[in-house]
Amino acid sequence: MGEICKPNKVAHVLILPFPGQLGHINPMLQFAKRLISKGVKATLVTTIFLSKSVTLSDPTGSIRLETISDGFDQGGFAQAENPETYLSTLKSVGSQSLANLIKKLGETGQPIDAIIYDSFLPWTLDVAKQFGLLAAVFFTQSCAVNSIYYHATTGLLKLPVEEPDVSLPGLPLLKVSELPSLVSHYGSYPAWFDMVMSQFCNIDEVDWVLVNSFYELEKEVVDWMSKSWNTGTVGPTIPSMYLDKRVENNKEYGISLFKQSLSPMTCMSWLNSKPKGSVVYVSFGSHAELGAEQMAEIAMGLKASNCYFLWVVREPEKCKLPNNFKEETREKGLIVSWCPQMEVLAHESLGCFVTHCGYNSVLESLSLGVPILAMPQWIDQVTNAKYVEDVWGVGIRVLLDEEGIVGREFIEHGIKEVMEGERGKEIRKNAIKWKNLATEAVDEDPTGSIHLQTISDGFDQGGF
Ligand code: UDP
Repeated sequence: MGEICKPNKVAHVLILPFPGQLGHINPMLQFAKRLISKGVKATLVTTIFLSKSVTLSDPTGSIRLETISDGFDQGGFAQAENPETYLSTLKSVGSQSLANLIKKLGETGQPIDAIIYDSFLPWTLDVAKQFGLLAAVFFTQSCAVNSIYYHATTGLLKLPVEEPDVSLPGLPLLKVSELPSLVSHYGSYPAWFDMVMSQFCNIDEVDWVLVNSFYELEKEVVDWMSKSWNTGTVGPTIPSMYLDKRVENNKEYGISLFKQSLSPMTCMSWLNSKPKGSVVYVSFGSHAELGAEQMAEIAMGLKASNCYFLWVVREPEKCKLPNNFKEETREKGLIVSWCPQMEVLAHESLGCFVTHCGYNSVLESLSLGVPILAMPQWIDQVTNAKYVEDVWGVGIRVLLDEEGIVGREFIEHGIKEVMEGERGKEIRKNAIKWKNLATEAVDEDPTGSIHLQTISDGFDQGGF
């Protein structure tokens, strides 16, 4: 991003994540923080509705927040009749509201130089152009998933998919069930499908393409993206303090979004009392809502594994916990409705992460060296889970049965395999390898935009 910094002038960048999902806000917020640490002024833009419901905890006070309207200021997405209405209103009202914000900032002496926008909001580029601003699109999903969606737009991946296996540039052979569900179940969620396809509609006109990945993690597919677009890998968007385990300095460095039932200290002091590598952490991200049957299977699987567990059960899911489960497992488990996930994953008591494989959760786990039991539900989670098991070797997948449920015995067995089994040993070795590579990616270039490649001079041991 060096080009936008002019001598004697601090560049001001607007950062616009897709409103609603933490999986979009978190990485862009972390990236904003990195820009700030480079001397760039960054303003995070969220919707009026979200600004009321999400708390931004920024002890450094360095990040600015501004709001735009998505047309549903009282209820956000839940207020819209359907996804189509929400997305089209977000585009029409959001564009106008964003233009007004840019004007207002200009008039109040805080002019904008560039916009970094979520790939789910491609209309932002038109607003940026209207004001002659530089623009970067930020992809919060993996590059492999970018490639799948892109190739669905070009026709290289024909929809509906009729072949049992799919071969795409830079990707392993994928079974249909390993493709993002919007692609494998083509036609099932048309509004969301159109949204993921629209990510590429104007990508050729953008100044930079930023991806939350790092070169070593997705070499082939990053190379493929770089051939077409001015691509920078900016991942993992994880504060280096977690990689260094300097968590006690959280206050000094932290910018995060917390919606908590317990203070973060409750989770952390509970973890502090547990032996190294002994805890199973269970979380299905910020918006998955599991059914009562699946909740019961997880509960029984955890109980049967006999491991310590920290389980994030969101408010709408609380009533689905089996009767007396909390009381019966008091010795072994802690159930919270939210936790500081990165701090939790960085804790040495962690032995396994049972996750829905939201991309951020996978990236965070991999960067912090925590083995995974993958329980993907839908969209890109199934592809991420494939990578977790078969490409990165950092976990085991347990897949849904025909009723869309993972049974308790698979969960119990999966946890035991990761924590104590033969495969677990290999997985732990790989997890450490990826943690080191992720740490290097963050250390070498905090903006992540430089790829380091080597050639041989014929004297690999001593050089000249
Ligand atoms: N997260 C958190 N505390 C929790 C659960 C989730 O801080 O109790 C964060 C997590 O660290 C990640 C994000 O929420 O950054 C979830 O993103 P992900 O892509 O994994 O899943 P999504 O919520 O988009 O399904």
